[in-house]
Amino acid sequence: MKVVRSIAELPESDGMVGLVPTMGAFHAGHLALFAAAREENDIVVASLFVNPAQFGPAEDLDRYPRDEERDTELAEEAGVDVLFAPSAEEMYPSGYATWVDVGELGQRLEGEFRPDHFRGVATVCLKLFNIVRPTRAYFGQKDAQQAAVVKQLVRDLNLELEIRVVPTVRDEDGLALSSRNAYLSQEEREAALALPRALATKDVDRARAMLAGLDVDYAEEANFNGQRVLAAAVRIGKTRLIDNVVLEGEST
Ligand code: AMP
Repeated sequence: MKVVRSIAELPESDGMVGLVPTMGAFHAGHLALFAAAREENDIVVASLFVNPAQFGPAEDLDRYPRDEERDTELAEEAGVDVLFAPSAEEMYPSGYATWVDVGELGQRLEGEFRPDHFRGVATVCLKLFNIVRPTRAYFGQKDAQQAAVVKQLVRDLNLELEIRVVPTVRDEDGLALSSRNAYLSQEEREAALALPRALATKDVDRARAMLAGLDVDYAEEANFNGQRVLAAAVRIGKTRLIDNVVLEGEST
């Protein structure tokens, strides 16, 4: 596996390229995306970039978990060919001015609580697609609204790549894997289990009742371009967790 830190160093490739955009701190959710990309493409590129543009001023950009050594090992074991870890200075040089706005889809649910989050996501994804030129890009159902935003971006801007969505990987206790789970104390993790349990009811009223003891940003049914999900975001101490279950419609 090649670790590449600048755009100029990225190798040229003839075959089909699968791109997995990530922010690192790899877990089995990321590995499922790598495996899906490995299966369908000649070359697998994983990007590792903690994208400042998708964090709000009061969010966890500075303390977001980073462990590049471990990530390099896990990516290599998963059959990733290129780990692309650009600097923020190269991605957003001084004078950087262009942003992708996906409209209403980026404003509701997560967008209501994280203004500009999806603008940052859409922008970095478009940049990564232009830099890596993948045949396919892989995203997790865990971030259902993000996957919908990326599909919208591809459709609206006539991008020539396929978007694949991989089902959510959960721990044995049902908690969706997330790099942010590392912030949780044992006690907080226990409390966090209410989130997957509530969503598993697939019923918004029952879910809200089960989440009543937590600090809930939202628990709502949503329709993301034809896929209906029950989605929720909760805050547990300083940690914000999101999760969803598909009610109806394809996850790919
Ligand atoms: P992140 O590094 O958190 O930005 O996530 C990178 C990609 O992995 C995104 O497309 C996420 O949706 C996906 N992902 C994160 N957690 C999971 C999970 N538990 N199951 C499946 N995909 C996931």
